[in-house]
Amino acid sequence: MHAPSPARPLLPAVRPSACPGLLRIVQALDGGICRIKLPGGLLTADQADAVALAARAYAGGVIEATNRANLQIRGIVAEHGAMVEALLAAGLGPRQAAGDDVRNVLLSPAAGLDRQQLLDVRPLAAQLLASLEQEPRLHALSAKFAIQLDGGEALAMLEHHHDVWLSPVMIAGASWMAFGLAGCSGHDPALGAVPAINAHALVLAVLDAFLARATPEQHRLRDLLTGPGATGFVADLSARHPDLGIRTVAFDRAPTTATPIGVHAQRQPGHCLVVAGAALGRLDAEQLRGAADLARRVGDGTLRITPWQGLLLPAIASADAASVQRSLAALGWLVDPAQPLAALIACTGSSGCARGLADTKADAQLLAATLHNPAAVHLSGCARSCAAAHVAPATLLAVGNGYYDLYLRDATRPGFGALQATHITVQEAGALLDARLRSNTHD
Ligand code: SF4
Repeated sequence: MHAPSPARPLLPAVRPSACPGLLRIVQALDGGICRIKLPGGLLTADQADAVALAARAYAGGVIEATNRANLQIRGIVAEHGAMVEALLAAGLGPRQAAGDDVRNVLLSPAAGLDRQQLLDVRPLAAQLLASLEQEPRLHALSAKFAIQLDGGEALAMLEHHHDVWLSPVMIAGASWMAFGLAGCSGHDPALGAVPAINAHALVLAVLDAFLARATPEQHRLRDLLTGPGATGFVADLSARHPDLGIRTVAFDRAPTTATPIGVHAQRQPGHCLVVAGAALGRLDAEQLRGAADLARRVGDGTLRITPWQGLLLPAIASADAASVQRSLAALGWLVDPAQPLAALIACTGSSGCARGLADTKADAQLLAATLHNPAAVHLSGCARSCAAAHVAPATLLAVGNGYYDLYLRDATRPGFGALQATHITVQEAGALLDARLRSNTHD
């Protein structure tokens, strides 16, 4: 079915970008990277098997779960055309090749299943993904341009910065979507709201307005909107599109589940969601195949990748939850939020990235062994902060091989927060963080 024909190219043309995609394998120090963008983080067990097989056959077997709920295969060493063909054959690619880069729509991994949700945003997500893939004018968006659709779920990552975010509110008994630009629903006020039925049209109107105004150097909405620019942008949108019904709204998103790893009640009675973590965002082929097997045997045959760089298995009978957790743990997934590694994130670091000033993955393992109490720490090999789309409570920013500056999150300061210590080892950082936790506990 996919036999190469000498009369046509084997794979569709790929647009230039520094970001990996399914069709664009980007080279790193440890080999090529292929990013597989999953719709709402969702993949079937058969698709998970296809990713695992591809990672083993064409790369070193290292798979990463990203903070946008996608998967990527690293260390690709073999001829990758056949690997991409295999992933496309598994339905892991876009119907329109040019639309791969722009399929950046983040949902809760529990969308449609979460007891607390106000709206099932999956139909809206499918509509938006189809537009992004199939509308050639939208392919001018940057590969980093991202949209978040929140359904009001308890399990939701609300701290990641998005170009456009939408979150449900009830107004006079009807479903509306509050929205914001260049921010996140967890921290920022809404700029307006539209009836839920107009949400798709609103997003397209925002994208078209952005593309019409942005210069080639402005890739994200934040590049275009500063200060009152966002309210002016929305006022202009409202004037041009009165049919959208944009109105002001009081918006305050309820807090979400603090610790996603664990077992969560599912909307459908008798079932639960089992959430596990991938240590430092990495898993191997057998880990993924094992999870796929569990999804087939005791779930509904699907898996969801989470924005916490882990996995959610839906539709697990509540009586099976503990045994599913044990099986996941045996495969190497993190199932206990008290494990120090469960709270650590680290970018690729110097072992795979030329910009890395330290081996952040190895240092995170050292830090996990040092810490007496779990602490949410982000180790970043340079200031680009690839591993975290939000500011972590503590950040170790590499300044040399094995040495870091320590920052603690501070809403009054830009970037990583308030600088606490400079040029320290991870052992010294661990001692400082443990002491801080002890003193907080004794306050
Ligand atoms: S944060 Fe810096 S060192 Fe880490 S992966 Fe990104 S570019 Fe590389």
